[in-house]
Amino acid sequence: QRAEWATLVNAPSVSADGKKFEIAANIGTPTDMADVFKAGADAVGLFRSEFLYMNSNSLPTEEDQFKAYKQVTETMHGKPVVIRTMDIGGDKQLDYLSLPKEMNPFLGYRAIRISLSRQAIFRTQLRALIRASKFGQLRIMFPMIATLEEFRKAKAIFMEEKQKLQVNDPGIGDDIKLGMMIEVPAAAIFAEAFAKEVDFFSIGTNDLIQYLFAADRGNECVSYLYQPYNPALLKLIKHVIDAAHQEGKIAAMCGEMAGDAVALPLLMGMGLDEYSMSASSILRTRSTMKRLDTTKCAALVDHVLKHALTNDDTEKMVKQFLK
Ligand code: PEP
Ligand code: MG
Repeated sequence: QRAEWATLVNAPSVSADGKKFEIAANIGTPTDMADVFKAGADAVGLFRSEFLYMNSNSLPTEEDQFKAYKQVTETMHGKPVVIRTMDIGGDKQLDYLSLPKEMNPFLGYRAIRISLSRQAIFRTQLRALIRASKFGQLRIMFPMIATLEEFRKAKAIFMEEKQKLQVNDPGIGDDIKLGMMIEVPAAAIFAEAFAKEVDFFSIGTNDLIQYLFAADRGNECVSYLYQPYNPALLKLIKHVIDAAHQEGKIAAMCGEMAGDAVALPLLMGMGLDEYSMSASSILRTRSTMKRLDTTKCAALVDHVLKHALTNDDTEKMVKQFLK
């Protein structure tokens, strides 16, 4: 099996019936790029920029950030690199930011909510990103967007910083695609409105499942509610993908579910364009993808959405299908 995987390092990510997809890598730091290269990822689908903030005793400077973003972007030689603006808060605390103690950190002051209220931090990050975009195909993604106003505000700030940089560097940042994570149920339900204003979606199933089932993703006592095959979630994911495609936009996924072997035929059947996962899962996924026919996967999705009522029901149906 591993020998077969080795032959797939530079192979395209394609289904049995010849439909092209992208299998991308999630990274946390530029040092992860060695594994990304070894796995032959089609893209970096999620660069969690938090590490720059967590591995430091003070806010990272524009220059520090620029170097990290440039390094990753350059290493991909023109393949897409999706960099997510900082997703601090929730369980990720920073001593030097002196964030308020909260009763419900995952429902509190985190990610884009901090970026929009502490704009100096956000603007520094955006400038570093725009400057690094000269070195490849850099895309920017905002985490935890719940409302259209949040996306519009984040985009407006991005446009302002871009225009300032363009005074001395005409055209810089003009080809940056702007996207958002779909990880808050309100945004998933209203995906058709967001799809008109973004360039792409990336579904963050780790948080989307947490918020959909109201179960803390880190709490063992409620881990049985982490249900990636639950029909309630599958319907929502299909809605998000359909909404993106309706507007001609890319639908990606960067939560754990994107690298899940049971989820794969369902996601292919729904037409998900990009699958972003830990580099160690890429070749296994590419190998399975090669054996799956998208028409049959679409029929499986229809069957599951019609007949499955529980997470287990779906899992059994998919495992039967994969036999
Ligand atoms: C997610 O929520 O699915 C996601 C990819 O982001 P993170 O795990 O960093 O919250
Ligand atoms: Mg998340």
